Amino acid sequence: MSPSGGWTSLPRILRKCAAALRSRRNPRHAWAHKPLVTPPVVARDPLEVRPPAVVLARIAHAERFCYPHSRRMSTGPIIELVDVHREYRMGAQTVAALRGVSFAVQPGELVAIVGKSGSGKSTLMSLLGCLDRPTRGLYRLDGRDVQGLSDDALSGVRNQHIGFVFQSFQLLHRVSARKNVELPLVYRGVSRSQRRALATAALERVGLSHRMDHRPSQMSGGERQRVAIARALVGAPSLLLADEPTGNLDSTTEREIMALVYELHAAGNTIVIVTHEPSLARQCPRAIRLADGRVVGDGPGREVGAASAAVEEVDG
Ligand code: ADP
Ligand code: MG
Repeated sequence: MSPSGGWTSLPRILRKCAAALRSRRNPRHAWAHKPLVTPPVVARDPLEVRPPAVVLARIAHAERFCYPHSRRMSTGPIIELVDVHREYRMGAQTVAALRGVSFAVQPGELVAIVGKSGSGKSTLMSLLGCLDRPTRGLYRLDGRDVQGLSDDALSGVRNQHIGFVFQSFQLLHRVSARKNVELPLVYRGVSRSQRRALATAALERVGLSHRMDHRPSQMSGGERQRVAIARALVGAPSLLLADEPTGNLDSTTEREIMALVYELHAAGNTIVIVTHEPSLARQCPRAIRLADGRVVGDGPGREVGAASAAVEEVDG
């Protein structure tokens, strides 16, 4: 209560209100500019652990060479599989699709996984892409044990760390190339202006600066696959996974897309290509051959690809 009390205090109250409003406009009264509603506290992404200094130094180094920056968390291999098994239950029967697969992929490698139909390539691709978990065995992606992650954490890993390229492109047909490329960033909550800038840069990277506003239906197969590659790259993944990326393309376009893959490899990206074509495996620095769910060859693509072609000839 003011000493004068009652109605006489009303003009004072009004004067105080006017002063408060004036002070809100005065930048010195920063408190007055505080939003009236406290913004919700955003939960920290459990995967966003700050890496140690040595890793940050590596990231800074990689930034100069990789597109557009590396999200690497560890200094070890990107992929580490140890005695991985995947069994499917079919009623009383169990189908063993992978029977003790072990290999590692180091940062910056370009590896082809080759094998005949039914050898376990798609199963392996699903595991590598965190779409599935091994029945037993260990899978570490960029130093993180994938086995123990919840479904939500696994989808977080997929979105943050893996770029997918599919044989059938898997683009949205009714929206522009740029909107297609922006999509993974929408799920990450990246601002509209930043999404646009990153998508533009990714499309420029794959040589499509002149096609950004075209829809996939107005593009050739090779251009569509470039859009899909830009979409896979836009989030700067630790790993680019391509499943038969040239399977729907003619041989000239296949060469163009493979040239782009080599360019991305030369820029420091880690790439795994799943293919049934020994000729494609031959073009990669390293190839891993699967047969009946086991690794039966792992070495220079030229040799493994040739071995694979020889087996196909004998069998076929
Ligand atoms: P690839 O991609 O090399 O053709 P897959 O990984 O698709 O090989 O399949 C490997 C083996 O696992 C095959 O024998 C296949 O029949 C079996 N398989 C794959 N997926 C399933 C599933 N969902 N349920 C049962 N068996 C499956
Ligand atoms: Mg398959």
